[in-house]
Amino acid sequence: MTLDYNSLLLALGLSGACLAATLAMSWAVARTELFLLTWAIGVFLIVVYVVLYAYYVDHPGPLLGAICYVTLLTGLSALYGAARQFRTGRSPLKPALIANGLLIAVAVPPILMGYDGLGFTAENIAAALLVSATAREYWLGRSEAPGPILGLSALYAIIAAGFVLCAGVLVWDGKLVLGQAPQNWAEDLSLGLSIAGMTGIGALSLALNHWRAAGRHRAEARSDVLTGLLNRRAIFDLYSPTPMRQFSAVIAFDLDDFKSVNDSYGHAVGDKVIRAFAEELAAAAGRNDRAARLGGEEFVLVLNRMLPERAEQLAERIRASFAARQIVTEQGAFACTVSAGIAFGTEAGASFESVLRLADKALYSAKRKGRNQVATRHVRLVK
Ligand code: GH3
Ligand code: MG
Ligand code: MG
Repeated sequence: MTLDYNSLLLALGLSGACLAATLAMSWAVARTELFLLTWAIGVFLIVVYVVLYAYYVDHPGPLLGAICYVTLLTGLSALYGAARQFRTGRSPLKPALIANGLLIAVAVPPILMGYDGLGFTAENIAAALLVSATAREYWLGRSEAPGPILGLSALYAIIAAGFVLCAGVLVWDGKLVLGQAPQNWAEDLSLGLSIAGMTGIGALSLALNHWRAAGRHRAEARSDVLTGLLNRRAIFDLYSPTPMRQFSAVIAFDLDDFKSVNDSYGHAVGDKVIRAFAEELAAAAGRNDRAARLGGEEFVLVLNRMLPERAEQLAERIRASFAARQIVTEQGAFACTVSAGIAFGTEAGASFESVLRLADKALYSAKRKGRNQVATRHVRLVK
């Protein structure tokens, strides 16, 4: 069986159409992932280009040539935009439109004027630039999921190389006017690479989407919905398995008379107070520290590498700035206070649970002494 150029184009069109449909459906079930939609649009435009180009091969003409060029470059710009959107999370419209506009402005006039040889050379160079830029976006974002992302980057780079070869052969031939679609070994090779690449890109793109969704679910399972801090499970998972290190401290916080806040102002205002305290905690926590909401109005701050007096200063600073903070409600503004208890992981081998228990004891002595204060537990730990 011999495969002519148009059969190969048909194969590319079909695999592209399936990929566009799958990407669009993936977007429909996860509407937050807008890059999937940009991706689907890009692939769809490339399918349209393939159909137009298959027609152009038999009926060449300047206008159809220019339309093919614009469709291909717009599709590739969308794929570039999708890669950028995937990596940065921002709208890709501006960079994709700028790249697209520039490349179209350079190459469409010669095609319309009948210099199709020049036009196809420009088209291949422009396509190679866009696809290389796409490969670069994935390369820059590789740390999120090195396996599939490096695979994507490599596939886009291979497709870009195919376009470079096509441009190279046209430049070598040096014809400004062809009068038909270019036909040479580089065109066949590039088309083959595009078909193989498209299939691989489809599979990897979907794998990547699942990877990201799984990561998001893991993060959601670890974070507290109301405050965005780590939740109880996450902080215990982090610290339970290994003994506390020297110069680490655990500060337990509990909002004072919180039940009366709920009783006087309602549960929604109570939630607002919880979020306000979480903000204080997050702002005070350094790079090596971990803040978590254990549940209700109880929080914990784990300090790694911190001298005892610095831990006390930090707890005192958090207490004071929360007490000074006004909670604004429809029934007027009020202030709320917090009590804190500190314990240290000074004994080699002490578990997180045992240090937290001591911090809790200190916390309750702060409550007994009248609340709105910090108490410290200085005792030797028993394993
Ligand atoms: P103390 O100073 O001794 O800590 O007094 P308290 O009133 O803060 O202590 P208590 O443990 O009796 O009350 C805690 C209250 O926190 C009871 C519960 O209604 C409220 N609470 C627990 N979880 C939430 C929450 O997610 N949102 C709101 N608004 N309230 C909560
Ligand atoms: Mg409590
Ligand atoms: Mg309380």
